[in-house]
Amino acid sequence: MTEPMRLELKAPLSGVVVPLDDVPDPVFAGRMVGDGVSIDPVTASLTAPCDGRVVLIHSAAHAVTLASPQGVEILMHVGLDTVQLKGRGFTARVRAGDDVRAGDVLIDFDADYVATHARSLMTQVVVTPPERVAAIRSATGVVSAGVDTILSVTLKNGGAATAPATRAAVRSEPLVVSNASGLHARPAAVLASRAKQFTADLRLRRGGNEVNARSVVGIMGLEIAHGDRIEIVGSGPDADEAVRSLSQLIRDGLGEQAAAPPSGEAPSAQVVRPSRSEDPNVLAGVAASPGLAIGHVRQVRHEALRVVEHASDARVERRALDAALEHAKADLDALHARLQQEGAGDKAAIFAAHRELLDDPDLLEVAGDAVSRGKSAAFGWQLACTRHADRLATLKNELLAARANDVRDVGRRVLEKLTGVDVDPVSYEAGTILVAEELTPSEMASLDRAQVLGVCTTTGGASSHVAILARSLEIPLVAGIDPLALDLPDGTPVILDGAGGAMRVKPSTVEVDDVQQRQRDQSRERRAQHAQAHEPATTLDGHRIEVEANIGGLTDAEQAVALGADAVGLFRTEFLFLHRATAPTDEEQRAAYRDVARALGRGRRLVVRTLDVGGDKPLPYLALPREDNPFLGERGVRVTLNRPELLRAQLRAILLAAREGRVAVMFPMIASLDEWRAARDLLESERRKVDVPPIEAGIMIEVPSAALLADRFAAEVDFFSIGTNDLTQYTLAMDRGHPRLAPHVDGLSPAVLRLVDQTARAARQHRRRTAVCGGLAADPQAIPLLVGFGIDELSVSVPAIPAVKAQIRRL
Ligand code: PEP
Ligand code: MG
Repeated sequence: MTEPMRLELKAPLSGVVVPLDDVPDPVFAGRMVGDGVSIDPVTASLTAPCDGRVVLIHSAAHAVTLASPQGVEILMHVGLDTVQLKGRGFTARVRAGDDVRAGDVLIDFDADYVATHARSLMTQVVVTPPERVAAIRSATGVVSAGVDTILSVTLKNGGAATAPATRAAVRSEPLVVSNASGLHARPAAVLASRAKQFTADLRLRRGGNEVNARSVVGIMGLEIAHGDRIEIVGSGPDADEAVRSLSQLIRDGLGEQAAAPPSGEAPSAQVVRPSRSEDPNVLAGVAASPGLAIGHVRQVRHEALRVVEHASDARVERRALDAALEHAKADLDALHARLQQEGAGDKAAIFAAHRELLDDPDLLEVAGDAVSRGKSAAFGWQLACTRHADRLATLKNELLAARANDVRDVGRRVLEKLTGVDVDPVSYEAGTILVAEELTPSEMASLDRAQVLGVCTTTGGASSHVAILARSLEIPLVAGIDPLALDLPDGTPVILDGAGGAMRVKPSTVEVDDVQQRQRDQSRERRAQHAQAHEPATTLDGHRIEVEANIGGLTDAEQAVALGADAVGLFRTEFLFLHRATAPTDEEQRAAYRDVARALGRGRRLVVRTLDVGGDKPLPYLALPREDNPFLGERGVRVTLNRPELLRAQLRAILLAAREGRVAVMFPMIASLDEWRAARDLLESERRKVDVPPIEAGIMIEVPSAALLADRFAAEVDFFSIGTNDLTQYTLAMDRGHPRLAPHVDGLSPAVLRLVDQTARAARQHRRRTAVCGGLAADPQAIPLLVGFGIDELSVSVPAIPAVKAQIRRL
């Protein structure tokens, strides 16, 4: 007989020991995760209770799992409901895969912040899987971190994991996770606990990954997020009943209240995450670029690059890495120059950002270190890019997380040079619908519209660079599509609906006929609207409304002119400032505004909005503090008024561009008369310096205080432009990107409409004009109301111009 194994765990925090039974959370108190103990801490660094390897550190950094040499895992969960803090207040000190010694710091947390923002600081330490635990004894009273033993565990020997289900006997339909924070510890425990009631082998799948559905740690390791699609696969005597039961439990929210599917406004397309399709022939995803396409599937498989780990001469490797980096930079410079020449400045900016990554000190340091330790250049570079991309991918900010794909893209570009792989662009047959796990921006930018009619990817969202490129290339794109799409053989006939976020597999002739009819109707209507796009938008009773464009750069400006824009009502200048390591120079700014003004010609007004960043949209070269409430913090004009040199430079560039056309300036996020007056004074002082005639200066009405004081503002400003996106979120006190609230952030709310009406009335009394430049301006339901309120100008995304004009003419 072998001796039972023992495991002694040191206290990971100092504090008062609390029995699990007293933890006010049924998952821990009910030992659904495993047996253990809780600590009410007085210290704020969670340390390793024993030697081991980090199996998982949650992306919200509130929970960590260690594998002990005895073959069990210790899950430590700091606080209750702390997953909802999304990492705020926590700093992970280790990464998955790190080997640690007892006493090493795993997580630091801001105890004050967590205590005041979460339900409790009580920290649970549990041993799992429960089947391995024969007996467990916990300390009582007060313990000191790293000194006192908090748990003495007697382990049963053996306990090999069950073999994975190779052949799915029973498979659930795809299930959409409705839990707001995904499958974090609590819902994972509820699921695992139900799975344990059956004898069948049960697996949980997401994409190509699969874990034992009885393992809480395994489930958490999949990092399943809100809106993800998962599947249960079972085999064994009661598999049928088990799969049914677990599927229902997931649909019911695993003991949590279900959240609405995520949504939010993408730069020029509505993000739509459709509900799970009942039809097995329809694969659902996220609407990332609109358009209907009928074609055949072609799977994109990225050839794995063969990377040798070790090298004999570090100097040779370093030279190889430098050469590959230089080569990649030259390629990117050429691509950037070509796109600039084609007038696609915003697309070119994406590759300028890739070029910057090649000089990123973090990436270069990791790769250089690896080479110094005897690794090959390719191995070091791959390691650096993978680490950086993985770190970005875990960020909660969707925009930043989407940048992980950019790092992988640029990473592969260099790796191809280092491994000598042929990088000729692939050509596809006409009528191709590409299916891929992920497409890089470089691949999207090089697609030939004559061959590729549409794209779907199992990852990504509507705000990724790939999606931005797809919209500008007018290629329908469904992102985050059901991974079953990857199993479709090449040549499978499909219909891709970019606006509906879905792909129909093997459509019937009737369905193809129906879509072809829709395509014909849509293009007839579009042709009719386009034919009249250059006519004014005048209502049936002779009232003229100016229909203007919201633009982000020169390409948009040129398209706006081609599509009949009467003016540019909103030039979002952020694109000049984002995706780069330093602020644009005066000359760059001047050239950018001047080019747009020239493209519009003297007949069309250009309203340039000063930089609108901050809080949720950080810039690497601006030291903006992290804020608890970014939307209520330093944002918009508050950022630039606090950094007058930045604003002065931008105002000078705008004033100089006014020599080329009818240029006006507009300040975002104005909340008080003082802010407006400060901005106006800076404008006037710069105007005197550059010695140009005065230009029109207006404000955005997007904060309720500005709408409520519209009569006071109207006496001083030249015009108003109502930003209904922000006005709605601030009036209703609902974050415009909040997954559960987004469907209620409705600009047609009577409260918002009353503020719009009040603003327009105040402007009229002072003979000032009012524009609307938020999303409401292109909403067919809102347009009659806005015209009725006496709004003079509607500024909309470029492709919407002809349709908005057509609707006004019918009023
Ligand atoms: C708005 O808030 O309505 C607006 C037009 O500004 P942005 O969407 O750029 O914040
Ligand atoms: Mg705004």
